[in-house]
Amino acid sequence: MNPAGAAAPDQSKGTLRVVQLYPRDMNIYGDWGNALVLKRRIAWHGYTPELLEYNVGDPFPEGVDIIVGGGGQDSGQLVIQDDLQARAGVLTDLAEDGTPMLLICGLYQLFGRFFKTRTGAVIPGIGVLDVETHGGDERLIGNVKVASPEFGEVLGYENHSGQTTLGSGVRPLGTTAKGTGNNSNDGHEGARYRNIVASYLHGSLLPKNPAIADFLIRTAAERRFGSFIPGNPDDSFAVLAREHAARRPR
Ligand code: GLN
Repeated sequence: MNPAGAAAPDQSKGTLRVVQLYPRDMNIYGDWGNALVLKRRIAWHGYTPELLEYNVGDPFPEGVDIIVGGGGQDSGQLVIQDDLQARAGVLTDLAEDGTPMLLICGLYQLFGRFFKTRTGAVIPGIGVLDVETHGGDERLIGNVKVASPEFGEVLGYENHSGQTTLGSGVRPLGTTAKGTGNNSNDGHEGARYRNIVASYLHGSLLPKNPAIADFLIRTAAERRFGSFIPGNPDDSFAVLAREHAARRPR
């Protein structure tokens, strides 16, 4: 291992390709950090990370192992909407095939059926997730703690006007112990479908929630290589970040 904790290329267990969707337009509250965590943890596990960006108009990469998508202002969502529709087929195929994906806030909404903004504009989604979102008058802002049956306590920060309702085709990521989550009514946060983790939580999410990062990496390695051989990630900063985040008031 070199000082950064990455395996030398000749010792690598293989390459995992991470594609970040629309980082130019959909990347707020440090969502970029999710891609950086995946890059570092993939290396810590002894694999070679390859991090690619996909922006409006780009050719869509081949051989995708993990997809991450961030949040954005309503205006950013309007910018990407046509391109996203043009990519609905490939993204739906990847999702249905079991590609692990992390979708935060604005892209969580647009992997659903639609986002109707506060001003009445309807931004169509690609319908991979059985959810719909209606912009409300109240912005839901603050620190969030979620109890997740799969990932334990999930910590993050929310800031959205969208109120998302889940259909029967998805299950929630968890229930909110602090904060609002999907909407003001049902106490649910995020959505799970196949190997997709969708959430309103920024912060960014993965530095404070390595269990979710490792779920994405393990799933990607199993799909690509037939098995996942874990390494020894350094979780000391994640532990500190979690302690700090958990103490923050709403
Ligand atoms: N624009 C969307 C909303 O306000 C998404 C916000 C976000 O991604 N933080 O609901």
